[in-house]
Amino acid sequence: MSNPLNFEVNATEGAARAALLTTRRGVIETPVFMPVGTAGTVKGIRFEELESPELDARIILSNTYHLWLRPGIETIKACGGLHNFIGWNRAMLTDSGGFQVWSLGALRKITEAGTEFRSHIDGSLCFLSPEISMEVQAALNAEIAMAFDECAPGEATHDEARQSMELTLRWARRSKAAFDVAQIVNLRSAGDSERGSSLIVREGLEEADRMSALPARQALFGIIQGASHLDLRRESLDRTVAIDFDGYAIGGLSVGEEKGVMMEVIEDLVPRMPADKPRYLMGVGTPEDLIEAAARGVDMFDCVLPTRNGRNGQAFTSRGKLNIKNARYALDQQPLDENCACSVCNRHTRAFIRHLYQSGEMLASILLTHHNLAFFLDTMKGVRQAIRSDQFAKFRREFTEQMHCGLES
Ligand SMILES: [Zn+2]
Repeated sequence: MSNPLNFEVNATEGAARAALLTTRRGVIETPVFMPVGTAGTVKGIRFEELESPELDARIILSNTYHLWLRPGIETIKACGGLHNFIGWNRAMLTDSGGFQVWSLGALRKITEAGTEFRSHIDGSLCFLSPEISMEVQAALNAEIAMAFDECAPGEATHDEARQSMELTLRWARRSKAAFDVAQIVNLRSAGDSERGSSLIVREGLEEADRMSALPARQALFGIIQGASHLDLRRESLDRTVAIDFDGYAIGGLSVGEEKGVMMEVIEDLVPRMPADKPRYLMGVGTPEDLIEAAARGVDMFDCVLPTRNGRNGQAFTSRGKLNIKNARYALDQQPLDENCACSVCNRHTRAFIRHLYQSGEMLASILLTHHNLAFFLDTMKGVRQAIRSDQFAKFRREFTEQMHCGLES
């Protein structure tokens, strides 16, 4: 079957790398930040703005767990798939639902078969497994799907982390097998109105090859676990690579481990990851985290910080975080970030945005979300340009120094 992704590294500086990731829905320059679109919407911003040259988000993330519970797969299928349903024609990545279910804490029960949990919407009993996650992700039909994994808490002991890692590996193999079958069904229904449920796997693969030069199948990434234990992380990496995925993600970081542990794991693990496949750090982090991880060779990121914190009145700026609730901004005539060229910073003052926030106006969230996403996306653009022009070490040093000038300290 033709390759669903083409990944080409075109510049490196130290361990950092700039690459082109070609999907069936466009080319993505990496290192890339993916805005999080939990329920099929990146909260507080329209797709036109995400697509505009100012932000130019090439890929967004959607959450399988949320879309599966509401509106449900049947609705999304009936509306022509997720891209069609939500009106986003660029690339997407869906997570597996594993992390969301894991983060329900006491509301879930993990067994070999999968995870049983109570819906956060209506309390009903639900069950998610590698097979169900692959079926749902195939129906959502994002360009990149993720294996169903189990996340160990940051402070997990060696024994706990090993058990969790072994389960994730067994689930990774089941994910891959279920994914391959689901792709045949997807390809068959894309080229033929009849469902291909009676197809033999081999016939399906051959037919998929003939059907189109454009890869219709999705890509599937494997997830490396092992908490903060480097030996387990390395073992998880080797055994996940042996299963053979289209890209590899580092999961289970930024989940309560001590500060410093995250970069230690990234620094140890990333150079060992396949150089010819995209490397994705899941759910991380602040702009500084992104730059530090990119310096160690990570290509892809997602995080809710720019949107969630924006709704809570926080702006990320080139001089650190700014809390718009702070009374010191009541008369402040400066933009959120004097170094930001976004349309919010071009037009509005901190004083006005603070007023909107204090008045409970929805525009406060919209403006802060827009600026924060612009800041994250622009920072990654700066990273890419710096790597390509062999200026990344300088860029990283200056960015970090400026961050620590401390707007509010
Ligand atoms: Zn701005």
